[in-house]
Amino acid sequence: MLEESEALRRILETVTPGPVTWVPLELSLDQILAQDMIGLVDSPPFDNSSMDGYAVRSSEAQSGSTIRVSAEEQAAGADLGLTLRQGEAIRIFTGASIPEGADAVIMQEDVKRTGETIIITEGVEIGENIRRRGGDVCAGQKLLWRGDLMTPTRIGLLASQGIAEVPVHTRPLVQIVTTGDELVDPGVPLLPGEIYNSNAPMLQTCVTRAGGTGAASHAFDDPKELSDVLSAAFAVSDLVVIAGGVSVGERDYVKEVLNDLGVKTGFWRICLKPGKPFLYGRHPEGTAIFGLPGNPVSAFVTFSVFVRPVIRRLLGFTEGETGLEEVRGAAGEELRNKGDRPHYLRGVLENGVVRLSGTQQSHAIFGLSKANCLVRLDPEQVIAEGDSVPCFLF
Ligand code: AMP
Ligand code: MG
Repeated sequence: MLEESEALRRILETVTPGPVTWVPLELSLDQILAQDMIGLVDSPPFDNSSMDGYAVRSSEAQSGSTIRVSAEEQAAGADLGLTLRQGEAIRIFTGASIPEGADAVIMQEDVKRTGETIIITEGVEIGENIRRRGGDVCAGQKLLWRGDLMTPTRIGLLASQGIAEVPVHTRPLVQIVTTGDELVDPGVPLLPGEIYNSNAPMLQTCVTRAGGTGAASHAFDDPKELSDVLSAAFAVSDLVVIAGGVSVGERDYVKEVLNDLGVKTGFWRICLKPGKPFLYGRHPEGTAIFGLPGNPVSAFVTFSVFVRPVIRRLLGFTEGETGLEEVRGAAGEELRNKGDRPHYLRGVLENGVVRLSGTQQSHAIFGLSKANCLVRLDPEQVIAEGDSVPCFLF
């Protein structure tokens, strides 16, 4: 059985960032820039006031002086092209263009207004309360680098430059294919022997969270139907994630059907708990295929460890950024892996202390739902209470 790290290495070996596409700025959140971004305009684009007050000549606006207020005023918006005359002040508001001849803005709190004059109570210095053209960004300046993550503030920065679209790597299309005669969709009553299909919505939203575009379809345990559903998936998807039917049961048809469809199996079975029957292959036309065990916890763990990194790599994250974030937690209880495979347990990490969340069986989705991390134990490892253990946040 293949080791986890070797399995991941083989999966990621051939994966590079996907094709570049320009998307509207607001849709680029959490994606990776595919190109450097250069400033297009000076910011601010013109000298303007940072206060509500009066545009003045600083030499005339010293403590105690009286200045006549011009009949004209300049608000934010169209630049009226005003000129400040000797001995006058022009009423001005935040964001408004500075009139020709003014070299400072005195805040309205620093004057006493009586009729058409102001008396200066607190003098200004040259340049005070003026935001200079290009004082923040100059046209031609590099603002963001290829590989940068798009955040709300970077989106704001590019918008302030008049940039409406950015180049990112296309979100991969990921088709989830669930299998099993016992499964029905949530929303209808259960008949004896049936269970609800929880993997489809769970994995589809795992795809969304990883940054891909997810869709789900289902096939009953019938080779012909499975073949049709998978063929349809290969035709349109970048990745196909099959859940269930990859084990050794007589009604586990996935391997046989993939083989008939010409898929080359990279490997089947890995040295990991949960997740032993995990399968990885490639369709001749390039689609990567993952076969996850059907039990929801096993499906979640193998998705997180092996599929999520592929989606993140396609989006342009570096290999070091594709895995779940690893932090250390102090074990809140003794943790023991009696088995000979690495074991990912479901944990709740709180204030640096990690405890197991409920029953650890691989069908137990309630415990999984309460967890916020996977706790990884090496084969036969025992962690004493208080000792540190790696936790992978999700
Ligand atoms: P399999 O890998 O097909 O042998 O399935 C292993 C276990 O997971 C069985 O108990 C299945 O009923 C269950 N299972 C398979 N697929 C799903 C699914 N989509 N949602 C919930 N449970 C599932
Ligand atoms: Mg099954």
